Amino acid sequence: MNAPMNRQWKLTTRPVGMPKRSDFTYEVTPAGEPASGQILVRNHYISLDPAMRGWMNDGRSYVPPIGLGEVMRAGAVGEVVASHHPDFKPGDHAVGMFGMQDYAVSDAVGVQKVDASLAPLPLYISALGMPGMTAYFGLLDIGDPQPGQTVVVSAASGAVGALVGQIARIRGARAVGLAGGAEKCRYVTEELGFDACIDYKNEDIGRGLSKHCPKGINVYFDNVGGEILDLCLARLARRARVIICGAISQYNTTVPVAGPKNYLSLLVNNARMEGFVVFNYADRYREGAVAMAGWLSSGQLKSREDIVEGIETFPETLLKLFTGENFGKLMIKAV
Ligand code: NAP
Repeated sequence: MNAPMNRQWKLTTRPVGMPKRSDFTYEVTPAGEPASGQILVRNHYISLDPAMRGWMNDGRSYVPPIGLGEVMRAGAVGEVVASHHPDFKPGDHAVGMFGMQDYAVSDAVGVQKVDASLAPLPLYISALGMPGMTAYFGLLDIGDPQPGQTVVVSAASGAVGALVGQIARIRGARAVGLAGGAEKCRYVTEELGFDACIDYKNEDIGRGLSKHCPKGINVYFDNVGGEILDLCLARLARRARVIICGAISQYNTTVPVAGPKNYLSLLVNNARMEGFVVFNYADRYREGAVAMAGWLSSGQLKSREDIVEGIETFPETLLKLFTGENFGKLMIKAV
């Protein structure tokens, strides 16, 4: 049988500022063959994550940078189509770092089998996958929200933020979101049940935070950094927890990242600011996925996916994360 053709995106230049199509090359070559101990996976849904921007940069991080000429790193969910690995057989579905391509040959390290009969495949790279685990462990392990406390989350209509606010509500806390535009804010309050949402593109952010957090902010789950982080720091309650999950406002900057100016608020409020990397919780994903699946099936938790057709759209689709054009967990449908 002829090997199927594999469309793939490779990183060829390290982007400066916003990534451009010319930073990548698009190739169509025959899919590889799995060797002993390997599997061949057909990707169905490929995740687009803000972190991809950081992985393109040279420099020390929590994972090595993507090498020039390598397939663009990406999480995906797909179907095993050939296997020389004892734990996988053709027809199994699996999640792993399979890359921005149709087919991946994988040694199955870090690959998890998933049950396509229990949940639609996109959910395994959304609420039941990496973004879900980020919201669950970041909020509950570091933020530790208590009933009646106020949790603020930025990028509140997005993959992680939407889940953070809903989990806060499930735990009996108040949830205040920040999102760009009236439509996203309406979704966050009316459909997801947040107590309030500040349209940071059209409202006075500081005034909105003071209005909706009259007793101060007990937990700030930061997805964006920059000015919003500073405005939240200035409104912390005593013993507040600030979770540094991401700083998307800074990812494409060509000048040094803007650090927080109001950090002395941590001192005067006996507060804590802590960085978070979801991969450090890999050995507890099962616990998180069971909890998230329970809330999804009871209707306490909603997940929204923004699915774009076609692997060939990758460079432009990725930019939606940085312009705010995505609405929910962004992913590409490969087939
Ligand atoms: P997402 O929220 O689904 O999409 C990104 C959103 O960020 C956009 O829709 C946009 O929403 C908002 N945004 C973009 N530029 C902005 C700016 N300059 N200022 C304010 N908001 C801006 O993405 P996600 O996958 O859930 O990721 C959210 C954050 O979590 C990112 O910072 C990501 O790096 C981080 N993250 C961290 C970990 C970890 O382990 N630490 C894991 C997963 C994700 P609006 O339309 O509302 O502006």
